[in-house]
This record gives sequence, structure tokens and C-alpha cells, in this order.
Amino acid sequence: MSADTAPDAARDPDADWDTVTGWGRTAPTGALVVRPRTYEEAAVAVRDCGVRGGIARGLGRAYGDAAQNAGGAVLDMTALDRVHAVDVAGGTVLCDAGVSLHRLMEVLLPLGWFVPVTPGTRYVTVGGAIGADIHGKNHHVSGSFSRHVLSLELLTADGRVRTVAPGTPLFDATAGGMGLTGVILTATLRLQPVGTALMSVDTERAADLDDLMARLTATDHRYRYSVAWIDLLARGRATGRAVLTRGDHAPLEALDALPARSRARREPLAFRTSRLPAPPDFLPGGLLSRTTVGLFNELWYRKAPRESRGRLQRISTFFHPLDGVPHWNRVYGRGGFVQYQFVVGHGREEALRSIVRRISERRCPSFLAVLKRFGEADPGWLSFPVPGWTLALDIPAGLPGLGAFLDELDEEVADAGGRVYLAKDSRLRPDLLAAMYPRLDDFRALRAELDPRGVFVSDLARRLAL
Ligand SMILES: Cc1cc2nc3c(=O)[nH]c(=O)nc-3n(C[C@H](O)[C@H](O)[C@H](O)COP(=O)(O)OP(=O)(O)OC[C@H]3O[C@@H](n4cnc5c(N)ncnc54)[C@H](O)[C@@H]3O)c2cc1C
Repeated sequence: MSADTAPDAARDPDADWDTVTGWGRTAPTGALVVRPRTYEEAAVAVRDCGVRGGIARGLGRAYGDAAQNAGGAVLDMTALDRVHAVDVAGGTVLCDAGVSLHRLMEVLLPLGWFVPVTPGTRYVTVGGAIGADIHGKNHHVSGSFSRHVLSLELLTADGRVRTVAPGTPLFDATAGGMGLTGVILTATLRLQPVGTALMSVDTERAADLDDLMARLTATDHRYRYSVAWIDLLARGRATGRAVLTRGDHAPLEALDALPARSRARREPLAFRTSRLPAPPDFLPGGLLSRTTVGLFNELWYRKAPRESRGRLQRISTFFHPLDGVPHWNRVYGRGGFVQYQFVVGHGREEALRSIVRRISERRCPSFLAVLKRFGEADPGWLSFPVPGWTLALDIPAGLPGLGAFLDELDEEVADAGGRVYLAKDSRLRPDLLAAMYPRLDDFRALRAELDPRGVFVSDLARRLAL
């Protein structure tokens, strides 16, 4: 890197050249990581980021290369993490974009409010949630995160801070825009009221993929939250067997079933989590082989009740079981892993069946595979969810022939009118993108006008020519 192309590290004592990677730990690249503590410092970092540009980063939970920027600047926004105001009567919160959903839960649950949408980890920031327009188990009822954003403040390439409201082109480009319209500084969110910090959960098993789809189609509308863990190593008649977990926030009366002196009855709105030790960082080939994952999947399926109703669970157990194991991504070893998530619309079930069959036949050792039905889409131009079926799975990156195999799946997804999720992606071919995201040209045009010098850029943006 020559001195005149490098971002200006000298002015910021908190800036350091570092290796940056996504949660899947594939494709690490070096960048100048700047950690602004004020909005003014964020503006200076954007102004000084040099010809390789800059990109905002939250907690780095995007699996691929969305929040990294080889040779340029990465703005780590997690020091801007204040909760400014909670309207307890009206159910809204104004906070910095660097605040995590974990922190929001700590603040909001005791007040009887919950975040409107949570992904499978609460260690994401509000900025990352808007940047990827994340979805949760309630997508079929509540849509994606941006549906609950009442307003946001965006630092754009010209150094201005704009207040951006839903229903405007800039909002629709920013919700799901992967940080490429600017740096989100604050957001006002509409919240979900809750009576307790527990969930009332129904569990059931599905014998195969068709049984699973039939159950989801027939009864998902009865549940606010719904997801299915699917065994992608099961073959033959068991292909696509699954465990459905669905539920809603438990009302106060539901706690009557617990002993009178239990902590949950005494403090029904207390937010409780648990944490196990982190796995070591020196697992050479990772722990996950077909045999270990096959065994795990078999046990997981058998251990699930054939049917159970109204079981009370902590919020953290229901939504974020993996958060109990810090750095669980290390179990894949140093080579890391790929998350593959796609959606195909209703009426395209045959494509879903075919892909599930191909993954099962390929014997991909995947133990974190989930299937969900999406509801109505939100207007974000690069927002991922559309009504239909979404499957997400993890695969060790070192699996022989993986790249070619996933390229074939991408084509099948695109042929079926579906798309892959950019927040999980690290390898999609750029030529498939326009078919998957029909508003891509609008997105590019808005960026060209808003940021003519291309200040905001990431490895993902370069790879896919966003
Ligand atoms: C275990 C696990 C489970 C997950 N489950 C789900 C799920 O169920 N549903 C789902 O939708 N996603 C899921 N994800 C993905 C995750 O929710 C998204 O990748 C989210 O964007 C991560 O937020 P982050 O704060 O870590 O952002 P990062 O990963 O740091 O960044 C993600 C994107 O947001 C942008 N961004 C971050 N902060 C800002 C900001 N202040 N201003 C502008 N842009 C910004 C970045 O530039 C980048 O493009 C999961 C991830 C993990 C690790």
C-alpha cells in the first residue's frame, strides 16, 4: 500500500491495521479498523478513508465479506452504543446504530418490551440489522427489521447527516443495502410488547420434507414465531425430516404453571442468559465430519419430543441457543465455513425439494440447517426475504468440490426466481445477481448519484459489483 492510497491512520489513535473476516472466517482481508466514539469522529473517518474507501461494521456476524474492505477503512461502530430514549408508553426506542440487540434486550425486557425482529444471534447491532434488513422466526407475521424502523440518521459520503424516513428511495436503498449508502448513526425502532421474558413453545417432529411443508403451510399462521431444524444428512424416505419449534411470548398467566417461589414467577420480566466455555482456536480440521454431524443429527431428531405443547423456555434458549457458546464458529477449524441461504417463492416447492435432495445426496455435513416460510416482502431494494421458502445451512469451507456444487445450486435458485442472502454470502457469481435482485439497477443508480466517488465500498460490493 503506498502512502497516498492508504487511509489516514495517523490522525486517529484508535485506528489499527488488522485482519478482518466474517463470522464464517473465510476470505480474511487487511483493513484500517477505525473505532469512532462520537458522530464527529465517524464523519472524520469517512472524510479521511482514502481511495480504497470505507465500510461500516457492527459485530461482524455477517458470515461472508460484507463488513470488510481490503486495503481500505472499516468503521467499527460498536463504540457508538448508547440507548438514548425509550418511550415506555408508546413502545419505541431511539438508539445508536452500534448498540447490540443483546443490550437492547437487557434494557427493554424489564420494561415489558422486546426487539421487533431478532435473528439467530442477539450479538448483532442495530446498524447491521438494518444494513442486512434481517429477518427472524416471525417473518411470516412481522416482516423484516426495516418494517419496524420509524426513522434513521445516515452519514453520507458528502459528510452530511440525513434523517431518512420509510417510504423514501434512500430508506429503501439503505434497508438491506449492506452499508453501501452510508453509515447509519442512530435509529428509532417500534417495539414488541411482552408480558414476560419467557416463551411458550410447541415442538413437533416432521417425518420428511413434504410432511414438514404441509405442517408449516397449515398451521404457521397460529404462531408468531416459527422455524424448523432440518436433518440434511437424512436420506431416502427420511429426506428432509425435521423438528418444528413454534411459539409466542408467554403471557403472565402462563407462569402460574411454575412453582410459586420460582425466579421466573418472582421476576417475570428478568432477562436471563447462560454461557458455556468457548471452544479452543486450534482445531486443525474442525470437529465436524459426516460421522459426527450424522450422529448429532440423529440424536437431535430423536431427542425432540414427537409433540409437546406450551413448554416454557427462556427467550435466550428459544431464539439464540448458539449464543451460549462464545466463538462456536471455531468448531469448523481454521478453514472456516460457508453459510448458504436462499429463498424460493410459493409455487416453487419442486426447486426446494430438488435442492434438499441434492444436499442430502452430496452428504454435506451440516448440523445448523433451518427451513422457514417467509411472509410478505418489505420494500428494501436489496432486502432478501420474499414470500416463500427459505433454507439456511452451514457447510465446512474445505469440503471438496464445494464451490462448483454451490454454483449449481445458485443457478437452480435463480432459475426458480429465487435469490441468495447477501449477509451470508462469500462466493456468489456476480452475473446471477441481477436476476435475483430485480431492483439492483435502481440501487446502483442511487449509489452513483449519492456517492459519486465510491467512498462506501466493501469486499462484497467489489466482488458483486454492487
Ligand atoms: C449465529 C447467527 C445467526 C444468524 N441468524 C440470522 C437470521 O436468523 N436472520 C438474518 O437475517 N440474519 C441472521 N444472521 C446474520 C446477521 O443477522 C446479519 O449478518 C447482521 O447484519 C449482522 O449484524 P452485525 O452488527 O454483526 O453487522 P456486520 O456483520 O458487522 O455487518 C453486516 C452488514 O451491515 C452493515 N452495517 C453494519 N453496521 C452498519 C452501520 N452502522 N451503518 C450502515 N451499515 C452497517 C455492514 O456494512 C455490512 O454490510 C445470523 C448470523 C449469525 C452469526
